[in-house]
Amino acid sequence: MDGTMAELQARLDQLLKEAARIAVALDRADGTVVGIPHYSVIEARAHELGRRLSRTVQARHMGELASHATRSVKCPECGTRCEVVPRSRSVTSIDGPLDFDEPMGHCPRCRRGFFPPPGGAGP
Ligand SMILES: [Zn+2]
Repeated sequence: MDGTMAELQARLDQLLKEAARIAVALDRADGTVVGIPHYSVIEARAHELGRRLSRTVQARHMGELASHATRSVKCPECGTRCEVVPRSRSVTSIDGPLDFDEPMGHCPRCRRGFFPPPGGAGP
């Protein structure tokens, strides 16, 4: 692991500990966890935070893919060069629903939308 990787891992560990600290404080502050909770309550709260983190990571990955998408691509039907614009999409992941932007082309000639092939400007 090089210096940058080690720094990123250390930063992630630090942020996860901070997120855990804040999640516990929030659960106490809003009364979700009171007194000495059964371990199943602690586990359920932790799992919910994990699912939320998962959705956040998924949206981030998809956002990065959209930001690197080409700005124009040829229509797969007629070959007209079409503008690619981000389009909001809602999905239900195994960790719950999330929204993200994904690149979508729209051909004015064919009057149809299409998803550009991943990576690259297309033929
Ligand atoms: Zn077309």
